Amino acid sequence: MLIVKKFGGTSVGNKERIFNVARRCIEDYKKGHDVVVVLSAMGKSTDELIYKAKDINPNPSKREMDMLLTTGEQVSVSLMALAMGALGVPCISLNAFQVAMHTTHRYGNARLKRIDNDRIRNELEQRKIVIVTGFQGVDKYDNLTTLGRGGSDTTAVALAAALHADACEIYTDVDGVYTADPRLVKGARKLDVITYDEMLELSTLGAGVLHNRSVELAKKYGVQLVVRSSLNENEGTIIKEDTGMEKMLVSGVAVDKNATRIAVIGLKDEPGVAFRLFDALAKYNINVDMILQSVGRDGTKDISFTVEEDVADDAAAVLEKHFPKSQYKEIKMKREVAKLSIVGAGMQTNPGVAASMFEALYNVGVNISMISTSEIRVTVLIDEKYVDVAMNAVHDKFSLAD
Ligand code: ASP
Ligand code: MG
Repeated sequence: MLIVKKFGGTSVGNKERIFNVARRCIEDYKKGHDVVVVLSAMGKSTDELIYKAKDINPNPSKREMDMLLTTGEQVSVSLMALAMGALGVPCISLNAFQVAMHTTHRYGNARLKRIDNDRIRNELEQRKIVIVTGFQGVDKYDNLTTLGRGGSDTTAVALAAALHADACEIYTDVDGVYTADPRLVKGARKLDVITYDEMLELSTLGAGVLHNRSVELAKKYGVQLVVRSSLNENEGTIIKEDTGMEKMLVSGVAVDKNATRIAVIGLKDEPGVAFRLFDALAKYNINVDMILQSVGRDGTKDISFTVEEDVADDAAAVLEKHFPKSQYKEIKMKREVAKLSIVGAGMQTNPGVAASMFEALYNVGVNISMISTSEIRVTVLIDEKYVDVAMNAVHDKFSLAD
């Protein structure tokens, strides 16, 4: 069997944990399996590197940032190779250049295009454990690139796909994927199985367990994933294709406080207004999430939308620049809002799921200011101060607790 095992930053955060990971990998190796290990940078070292860079130059070049950040993963893989060496097991560490993990040219958010297998295959044939840097790649001009924060998961899945691995295991510091954040919701429970689509929604909503592009890739190439803890032997959560059997109505509740609502009040109710508004934002690369337009009255209408908190000021500035004051009455911004979502493959075929969610919120007196949906998700925008009570109420409503 060929197994790809990925360990996150906390799992390799110190000497003791590095040896813990080394032993877990060696266990599989001694069973006769081929083992490819993908590592993140130790602990918070990526954050520390970013801090150091900005301390020297608040506006660092993207190329040099990637040059810097890729060192974090290189530290982990070499230390891991030293640990396995100390335990007497043949192994080799490889960075993105040595493997040849080809990406696009976009620094800080590059996409994997192709991975050469020859080097890894060759090392495996010599019965070595192969330890590969996560998060990084090389563009066609031989520049180092990174895949975006949390990107090591994507490296692991891409490697599993390229090598036709029999298993892809993502090790982290929690036991798997939960029905809700256990720190916020009492009775939140670990899921045994979740579909790619559900996981994709949850990771995009900021559940924090997996890089969302890794889930996209896993679905595309049919790589079955398991997310489990590196600190215990618990089973973890399996992420795989929807089998159609016993779909959960709702598998998880997620919250994202990193949202700001911007309302443009008193726009002219005529064709082209929404186009001009969102076109202006798009030209400045401002991602818009939920959108709500009111019914026109007396020739005017309101358009509200949400953006991530740190671009809210930019968004307002773009609108003020591109929309003459005569075309609307005012722009209102509210930062203390949060997105609360339920995700479940079963809601596709079961009416009434959204209604149940709204009822749960009504029962605890929480007002909904915006709603958006996908086939397997319902998201509402609520006042941030009600997040805890709202999340618990919704979690209870769908009987997700133990
Ligand atoms: N070290 C990188 C980060 O902190 C990549 C990763 O951990 O997956 O974002
Ligand atoms: Mg991560």
